[in-house]
Amino acid sequence: MMNNYPHLLKPLDLGFTTIKNRVLMGSMHTGLEDRAKNYQKLATFFAKRAEGQVGLMVTGGIAPNIRAWTAPMSGFLKYKFQTKRHKLITNAVHQADGKICMQILHTGRYGYHPFIVSPSGLKSPITPFKPKILTAKGVEKQINSFVNTAQLAQSAGYDGVEIMGSEGYLINQFLVKKTNKRDDKWGSDYDNRTRFAKEIVERTRQAVGPEFIIIFRISMLDLVSQGSTWDEVVTLAKELERLGVTIINTGIGWHEARIPTIATCVPPGAFTWVTEKMRPHVNIPLITTNRINTPEIAEQILATNKIDMVSMARPLLADANFVKKSMHNQSSEINTCIGCNQACLDHVFKNKRATCLVNPLACYETDYIIKPTNQAKSCAVVGGGPAGMACAKTLAERGHNVTLYEGSEKLGGQFNLAANIPGKDEFFHTIRYFKTQFKKYNVNVQLNSKVNASNLVAYDEVIIATGVKPRELTLEGIDHEKVIVYNELISKQKVAGQKVAIIGAGGIGFDIAEFLSEDDSLHGTDKDVYANPEAFCNEWGIDMNIETEGGLIQANHAPSAREIYLLQRKPGKLGKGLAKTTGWIHRLALKKRGVINLAGCSYNKIDDQGLHITRDDKEEILEVDNIIICAGQVSVNALYEELKDKQSCHMIGGAEFAGELDAKRAIKQGVLLGAKI
Ligand code: NAP
Ligand code: SF4
Repeated sequence: MMNNYPHLLKPLDLGFTTIKNRVLMGSMHTGLEDRAKNYQKLATFFAKRAEGQVGLMVTGGIAPNIRAWTAPMSGFLKYKFQTKRHKLITNAVHQADGKICMQILHTGRYGYHPFIVSPSGLKSPITPFKPKILTAKGVEKQINSFVNTAQLAQSAGYDGVEIMGSEGYLINQFLVKKTNKRDDKWGSDYDNRTRFAKEIVERTRQAVGPEFIIIFRISMLDLVSQGSTWDEVVTLAKELERLGVTIINTGIGWHEARIPTIATCVPPGAFTWVTEKMRPHVNIPLITTNRINTPEIAEQILATNKIDMVSMARPLLADANFVKKSMHNQSSEINTCIGCNQACLDHVFKNKRATCLVNPLACYETDYIIKPTNQAKSCAVVGGGPAGMACAKTLAERGHNVTLYEGSEKLGGQFNLAANIPGKDEFFHTIRYFKTQFKKYNVNVQLNSKVNASNLVAYDEVIIATGVKPRELTLEGIDHEKVIVYNELISKQKVAGQKVAIIGAGGIGFDIAEFLSEDDSLHGTDKDVYANPEAFCNEWGIDMNIETEGGLIQANHAPSAREIYLLQRKPGKLGKGLAKTTGWIHRLALKKRGVINLAGCSYNKIDDQGLHITRDDKEEILEVDNIIICAGQVSVNALYEELKDKQSCHMIGGAEFAGELDAKRAIKQGVLLGAKI
């Protein structure tokens, strides 16, 4: 059988070793690196991905010493005794015929603790601690730490190391004028500013010998003011090649940059052009990265751009067997990463173990185990949203006989709504994934089926996943023709006019503001900022010629397609409760589009004039064409109440609890219940 991804699956010969395909599982902090007792879990996590045929993997960042910590008690490798725990990982990966490098990460001023150091002592805008200025002796110490850690990684059995030189971490802080104000041999001109990176690489290569992979992750595009110019990045890349780096990986944007680089709203493969620009300048393999989440996109990049590897981190959290499925042309069976960050990065920023919204088994491989059942039961799952789909799939995978009843004409529930929000169409991937799994495991899917208790008596187990419905408000004029509930709008049953007020500024209120502010005539055109990298770069102010320092130019946000008021009753900033790693993007995007935020509102009535509110003890009328209701949800659980005393019945997802409903909880509950019955 012809394979659809010949470039993706082609081995890469590094001379002293061969990587079996072009997939690098990029470094991702899981939280398991930080405790010795969790290394067996981490070993299983990587072994599963090695069994899934990933070519080369990179661990989450390991600090070379405690000053380099990301946060207190982060994983670090400084002493020989610490290699024992790493051997669990390397042995497990090698037994599965995989390859793995350890990332050495020195966070510099990005560390979240009081021992941090940096070239010039400037505090970062995203951490509360002021770093200590490194003395010349201190700089030498840090270099020696990198080298020592690389040697220990080698003795622990790793196939190589990745030296983290991007994302605004310590090496990057030495490289740019923004954070390096030194006037000794480690600062001022570019040659001096690159000395730290060059010394680390040169001395590491000397220490580990020629047959050990050294990946250097270079910041090709800083996306901060006073960042590197393209000429500087090229100069450094050439030097790194000369000094013995095996592979150059791409880093895009510092953590403090206010331009999205990996969120769902970033077009697929949006930064590949940056790596491609480097191609003529070095002869060693290049890895490109960011928003590559399907084998089709990866194949296209490798086939057309003369790039040697693609880095995917989150897609391999979402599906450990991504590569294996690609090898068997089973792309439609891949559980695709939807770029939401909700269970991976958002967890890491809260010091919680990372996992994946669409795959709650990720990083919990030894905690949650899906075993075949030894007593097949007949199961009815009522509701085809994320919770119901996840439960039906897990039950059927284990050998139960499953019927899934969905009241509407399609599967997906709230995901169907979410997927219609600009930049979120990847949510459709999850629905596609479940549909293929239902075929594979013979789930009997009954659409347009509104079941009642009498339809369910014959089943051994009933799972109620009937989800949520929008909260109904008691407000004078709520039945006025100007009122539209968010689901009617997204499903295009109703269309909003030019001036709108949105009641409720939670996740859905923000989504609706984005939906309404977007000019949908741009969909499918080369001006679509969610699909076209050039349009995206223009909107966010990224210089595709990288002639400016840091690659920043004037942003060019299109004004809102409508006049929009976004309202909440609480005082204070809107969108406070949005997720850590993506909330700022939503807030910034709406601000740039001119959406007006109103906090501390009380809603008085709706009439022909519009929405009457009181704010700061003053009455106002928002003379709008439509009022969109996004005031949260309530559970739909009547069927459970009817059944619970009569037969074995379970309730999951929004049906069980509508507050703070999100797909992460819904899918996890579905999978865990499916694993238990
Ligand atoms: P939500 O986040 O709970 O927000 C509900 C909004 O309605 C709040 O702004 C609340 O603010 C207001 N509200 C509540 N009761 C009200 C009432 N009786 N009258 C008027 N206003 C009222 O719910 P959601 O926006 O429906 O989102 C549901 C879930 O979907 C969220 O938990 C989130 O996890 C998920 N989601 C997330 C995103 C994202 O992160 N981008 C996007 C979509 C959905 P006040 O009480 O201050 O008025
Ligand atoms: Fe991707 Fe979301 Fe899973 Fe993170 S949580 S790996 S972004 S699907």
